[in-house]
Amino acid sequence: MVYSASLNVRSTKNRDMIDITGDVAEVVGSSGIADGLVLVFTTHTTTGLYINEHEGGLVDDVESVLSKLVPPRAGYRHDRVDDNAAGHIQSILMSPSLVIPVEGGRPVLGTWQALFLAERDGPRSRTVKIKVMGE
Ligand code: ZN
Repeated sequence: MVYSASLNVRSTKNRDMIDITGDVAEVVGSSGIADGLVLVFTTHTTTGLYINEHEGGLVDDVESVLSKLVPPRAGYRHDRVDDNAAGHIQSILMSPSLVIPVEGGRPVLGTWQALFLAERDGPRSRTVKIKVMGE
């Protein structure tokens, strides 16, 4: 069986890290699927997904490393068109999708693992597609 859902995620800043762990767990719970996989996919070119600890200092550290690796407005050609090249390139360093095992009707995550949607060109309304597959 496959159960599909969409999350509408509203970012509030230009660069924002949004914890969607609870939303994804809720979709898995609604799916009725006990054992399988959940695919989480962002449909945008200036967002990325990652799994890591939700500790405020670490979230800020991830933000500052991304800014050092890909500083904004560093002479990118795409900035002439859209002024958001750093957001696109930072997104490429993450992933548009995550796959997480589902057991007992819940996503299997380690104690310190949380799912983040990383906004790189907000604030905006974003769509995250979810497919829960299994039985
Ligand atoms: Zn662009």
